Amino acid sequence: MPAKVNENTCMHCGGCTSVCPAQALELQETVLVVDTDKCIECGNCQKVCPVGAIKVVKG
Ligand code: SF4
Ligand code: SF4
Repeated sequence: MPAKVNENTCMHCGGCTSVCPAQALELQETVLVVDTDKCIECGNCQKVCPVGAIKVVKG
């Protein structure tokens, strides 16, 4: 499964967008958008998120 954002906890810091090797994350004004076709499920975004707002479920 591609990365999934919890919009209730995401504070739109942009930290995850800079570590995504696939340019699958786009920070818009009030929402973090995941391009599920681009996501390669590397898990980088989940590792760097300071509030655990983005999860990658493998398998
Ligand atoms: S799992 Fe990897 S490829 Fe997918 S959105 Fe997160 S950083 Fe980008
Ligand atoms: S690192 Fe976490 S809090 Fe920051 S924009 Fe990404 S998902 Fe949201």
